[in-house]
Amino acid sequence: MAKQDYYQTLGVMKDASGEAIKKAYRAAAMKFHPDRNAGDKAAEHKFKEISEAYEILKDDQKRAAYDRYGHAAFENGAGPRAGGFGGGAGFGAGGFADIFEEMFGEFVGGRGRGPQATSRGGDLRYNMQITLEEAFAGKTATVRVPSSVKCEDCSGSGGEKGAHPISCPVCHGSGRTRMTQGFFTMERTCTHCAGTGRVIEKPCKSCGGSGRTRRDKNLNVNVPPGVEDGTRIRLAGEGEAGLRGSPPGDLYIFLSIEPHKLFERDSADLHCKVPISMVTATLGGPIEVPGIDGTRVRLQIPAGAQTGQQFRLKGKGMSVLRQNHRGDFYVHLAVETPVHLSRKQQELLREFDKSATKGKPYSPEAEGFFAKVKEFWQELKE
Ligand SMILES: [Zn+2]
Ligand SMILES: [Zn+2]
Repeated sequence: MAKQDYYQTLGVMKDASGEAIKKAYRAAAMKFHPDRNAGDKAAEHKFKEISEAYEILKDDQKRAAYDRYGHAAFENGAGPRAGGFGGGAGFGAGGFADIFEEMFGEFVGGRGRGPQATSRGGDLRYNMQITLEEAFAGKTATVRVPSSVKCEDCSGSGGEKGAHPISCPVCHGSGRTRMTQGFFTMERTCTHCAGTGRVIEKPCKSCGGSGRTRRDKNLNVNVPPGVEDGTRIRLAGEGEAGLRGSPPGDLYIFLSIEPHKLFERDSADLHCKVPISMVTATLGGPIEVPGIDGTRVRLQIPAGAQTGQQFRLKGKGMSVLRQNHRGDFYVHLAVETPVHLSRKQQELLREFDKSATKGKPYSPEAEGFFAKVKEFWQELKE
């Protein structure tokens, strides 16, 4: 099957900057993220494709190799293989994109699964929902994970009282048995040890010889400030225990962030629509808006403010993962038309309307609009 060009996969030009590639990947990853497309095989496939493409194109060295040799640069283990992905315990290195990398560790060669690693414990997934405030401030949560752990009675060996497997008495550890029939000698897999060459004499009673038992465990998860919807946190070695002392799998915490009733998030920035009265909009004046950090932010509205006008409050937005600065907070004004006016108020407004139209015009939008309407009619006539 021919592989699609990595640039095409991400929808960027061949000479796209690293920043543009990152942006394209991010947008696509959000769209095809398995969490948002549960059960959608096509989306899952697409997600893998874009992640694979990004894996190569974000790295200058790998990108250069790809530009030169195409996909062949990364096939059959030839060409530059990346090492050092996957990071240590806790969080992967460097932001949203890098956390995905760990899911594709096999592709990037970060954690090769050789034949000896086949009994490694499975990876576990834990879905955690947090609020936007928690994503802002970070939090430490305790999660209860159903898991299989190393059997305490046999220390994971699978043999009674920790006895280690012995060499298979039938095949003497080779895993193969020979049978002579006439002139022929046939060799086959030893049925006694299933070809492993080792057997457990007396299986541990607690775990039946597997070396692991099922048990819930409590884990403290440190969610750092600035995480985004879809961020995965990898807890190395906290997955299922391996078979008979093999290394355990990893635990992945999948974060999703609840929609907020006031704020909308755009990566590091926050947006909030704030209604103001017609009078404040007209005359100007201070308003107070809530900050994500729980503070009250004062904002001076200039006279003549309009609906849709936005004010940028620098550094009052979301926290940024592993960085000290914060994004910005945008306040979007919505001027409210007064309702349920008393007779007296209606009178006052009529008075106002009469007085104002006599002087200079007071509706900038309308002026522009009616000028355009006039032009439009003019053009129709021509
Ligand atoms: Zn046991
Ligand atoms: Zn055997």
